[in-house]
Amino acid sequence: MSLRDSAATPLPVRELLDALTSLPGIGKRSAERIAFHLIKASEEEAMALSNSIAEVKHNVSCCSICNNLADVSPCLICDDHTRDASVVLVVEQPKDLISLEATGMFKGVYHVLTGRIEPLAGIEVGDIAISELLERVDNSSLNAQGATINEVILGLNPNLEGDSTALYLAQELEARSVKVTRLARGLPSGSQIEYANSQVLADAIQGRRGMHQE
Ligand SMILES: [Zn+2]
Repeated sequence: MSLRDSAATPLPVRELLDALTSLPGIGKRSAERIAFHLIKASEEEAMALSNSIAEVKHNVSCCSICNNLADVSPCLICDDHTRDASVVLVVEQPKDLISLEATGMFKGVYHVLTGRIEPLAGIEVGDIAISELLERVDNSSLNAQGATINEVILGLNPNLEGDSTALYLAQELEARSVKVTRLARGLPSGSQIEYANSQVLADAIQGRRGMHQE
């Protein structure tokens, strides 16, 4: 029997376990490990975590259009009328967006999926912001500046999960008559966008190609 289900477990601990298992990618075992860690941790350490959760909840949210971290919504990128909102670059995480943005090469807008399809970690299609992307494509009023999306660039990490997420997205998008491209294969397989250098990323954006081109 798990800790969560035992009447011998104090109620506050059971509530903490419930809260932890509701987080993405946290199963029962991980929740128990984290809970034990927090119970044994100093009050200072545990409260630092609690305070930083409160802090981000009060001061940071996600852009209602692209899901990027922002303290205003729409975010400054979506709201920038010098950018071309008809081209959307899809990334897994805000840190990928930061790396791609640092190249200065991309003048469209982004869509942050907040993850990738990863069945072994319990992350399914409905757990990341795929339907929000498809809605932006289907309905221009949901996109930045009300623009119709002409091209979606898939900028997922070049590894097994990133590739299979990209393939799923391409199938969904190609059924919608929008141009689908992916970053050029300059990124070594298994590498991560967030750690790639700016020149490699700039080349990958500029050399982007259709999903079915090598
Ligand atoms: Zn945005």
